[in-house]
Amino acid sequence: MITVKTPKGCKLKIAGKPSLDLDRLATPASVAMLPARIPFVKPRLKVKIGDRVKIGTPLFEDKRRPAIQFGSPGGGVVDEICFGPRRIIKAIVIRLDDNEEHVQFTSLTAQDIEAATRDDLIKAMQDGGVWPFIKALPFRDIANPEEPVPGIFVNLGASEPFLPQSQVYLRNATDLFESGINLLRKLTPHVYVTRPPGKAPVVKALKHLITHTCKGAYPVDDPGVQLYHSKKSSDENRSWYIDGQDLLHLARFFETGRYPIERIMVSGGNLAHANKHFITRTGIPLATLGGCHDGQAAAGARFIVGGLFRGYTSEIDSYMGFYENALTLIAEGDEKEAFGFMRPGYGKPSSSNTFLSVYNPSDIKTDCGMHGERRACINCGFCVNVCPVDILPQFTYKCVRADEVEESLANGLLDCVECSLCTYVCPSKIELCARFKQAKEAYYKELT
Ligand code: SF4
Ligand code: SF4
Repeated sequence: MITVKTPKGCKLKIAGKPSLDLDRLATPASVAMLPARIPFVKPRLKVKIGDRVKIGTPLFEDKRRPAIQFGSPGGGVVDEICFGPRRIIKAIVIRLDDNEEHVQFTSLTAQDIEAATRDDLIKAMQDGGVWPFIKALPFRDIANPEEPVPGIFVNLGASEPFLPQSQVYLRNATDLFESGINLLRKLTPHVYVTRPPGKAPVVKALKHLITHTCKGAYPVDDPGVQLYHSKKSSDENRSWYIDGQDLLHLARFFETGRYPIERIMVSGGNLAHANKHFITRTGIPLATLGGCHDGQAAAGARFIVGGLFRGYTSEIDSYMGFYENALTLIAEGDEKEAFGFMRPGYGKPSSSNTFLSVYNPSDIKTDCGMHGERRACINCGFCVNVCPVDILPQFTYKCVRADEVEESLANGLLDCVECSLCTYVCPSKIELCARFKQAKEAYYKELT
């Protein structure tokens, strides 16, 4: 058992965390896939407006690797295909039938999986549209089955509290999870399961599968952090990984022969209508998850999809993407506060202990306000203090801005786990993480 421990990271004292309660959401009238939100994929459409599709019918494929397909999250009619600048496919909207049909793929028992070859399983996953659940470090692109697999990390954690928690999605699903692990072991014998930080009771049932534990604050349980702290040389920055809930989807796909659409999602943030977990389905409208049908709950709120730290801002009339299971609503927070600099700030979040909130034991409301203007780096070192993979973000940022690719790589750019903590704590409001992601993407394009 390997224990990953880092004094870095950040304990998130942010109000509006979703509870562990679980409710079921009603089926919406339409669902969507958002190809533009899937990194490193160049989508080629396989349907047109008016086509009838079943759950699992391929909607698009990756032009570069056509074996990678994405299935329909609903059965019905292709109602709308929205394009953005340069004909980028933003959304494929499916109007759902009352009685949705499924594409029936081959289901496999545990014995069938044991007897199948690695290639057969990979082909079945690609044809069924579930292969994209497996991703690869360091770029976080979809895993390439033709490359050797150094290992697969299964992430059971969510040290970011605004993502679905494993205590919830593993309820009554520990056997299915174990089937998923057996499936991964057909791809590589090196399957690592990371126990979430804290004491999640449901994980006791999976104790025999745990290979890694972690101690520390967000994002200590991230597969990239696990890899960084367990690798033996700086070159070993490649690995595959899969989220614990996505592993359940893989296992369910083989058990039923059906494209898995059920998801556990969370709605959180201090402006959310209900802060809890929901059983729902992939690609639902944001308004359904946010409980904002009347627009009331949305007043003054920013919709962040995919987690508070790793997500992106979206519009209320959009949909949840293929990988996203979390919606966070927090205030835009651009109002000016009279004499704000003189206030003690008992209720203001601060990672630098500037405000009295350091003595406030409660979670504190946060918002998207910059609270001041951008300025140049003041070399305070706050970003260094939180970076879980020991990058010096301020120096790496300078290299990236100067297009010094080799220097950026030497400074650990590829180790960056895109946790956004450096951006969060930076008093100069420098968008460090966003810039690192862009630089990694540019380097990825150079390599492929
Ligand atoms: S440099 Fe990367 S890993 Fe380090 S804190 Fe910033 S985003 Fe996180
Ligand atoms: S936190 Fe911001 S201002 Fe401070 S050293 Fe890092 S980049 Fe510079």
